[in-house]
Amino acid sequence: MKQLVVISGKGGTGKTILTASFAALAQNKVMVDSDVDAANLYLLLNPEIKETYSFSGGKKAYLFPEKCTGCGNCVEACRFDAISETEEGEILIDPISCEGCGVCSFVCPEEAIEMKSSISGEWFVSKTKYGPFVHAKLGIGEENSGKLVTEIRKKATEIAADKSLDYIIIDGSPGIGCPVIASLTGADMAIVITEPSLSGIHDMERVIQMADHFKIKTACCINKFDLNEKNSNHVENWCQKKSIPFLGRISYDEEVTNSMLQGIPLVEYTDFSVSGEIKNIWEKLILLLKT
Ligand code: SF4
Ligand code: SF4
Repeated sequence: MKQLVVISGKGGTGKTILTASFAALAQNKVMVDSDVDAANLYLLLNPEIKETYSFSGGKKAYLFPEKCTGCGNCVEACRFDAISETEEGEILIDPISCEGCGVCSFVCPEEAIEMKSSISGEWFVSKTKYGPFVHAKLGIGEENSGKLVTEIRKKATEIAADKSLDYIIIDGSPGIGCPVIASLTGADMAIVITEPSLSGIHDMERVIQMADHFKIKTACCINKFDLNEKNSNHVENWCQKKSIPFLGRISYDEEVTNSMLQGIPLVEYTDFSVSGEIKNIWEKLILLLKT
């Protein structure tokens, strides 16, 4: 079983469009949306949710007002200003500001504060016409998305092992933070999609360096290459110099936006050249995985 993760240095480079097309092209796979902070692969895969699980990202302080004597120790001790005292002397904990460090509970002489697990999101196992799909919804402003990514990838691995699937195809998180590291860990190949802008190239180089650091093989492709052919050539030459396999170029095409609006993976939506370009990328990728 091979784990493939599609990543980009930043959001909006066509990562999800490429992943959804891979979903339509690959046989025997489970799909994962590990972009849990802004999940949108479901819009193209139209899942039917079969199982729902709660996700607890960590603990939050919880006050038992009946035990509180109003000594103020916790207000002083909280470095995150999550605890305040009203004019009437009532102690309040703001769950959004609480980082779950537990100091308030430690300093409270009355044992009036307990640390409790908080539900910060949900994750799902769904059925789609392209096979099983594991995805998640993290609450707004919730943290620990890396932990959630690890949880849904674990489930996808179990499904792949149970059903003897050939691939786990992951829509990775953008950027280079904790969630993208969690998307990459243990992957067989990271497919980096970039755009031919200077910031796109910079972000691509950063994300490839990061994958390299974790010893994950990378391959690269360019989206909307015809918006700046000079920069596209630069990317391709750079990949050649660094011995990073180059999978291909994808043209700018309004059909891409139309396919998104219709909620259909691009390779199913159109037979135009852009669709052929993605099919070629997939075929090159399969050959590469065999080497
Ligand atoms: S757990 Fe830490 S961050 Fe949360 S209220 Fe207590 S002291 Fe503040
Ligand atoms: S430390 Fe405990 S008793 Fe003192 S104000 Fe905070 S919750 Fe109340």
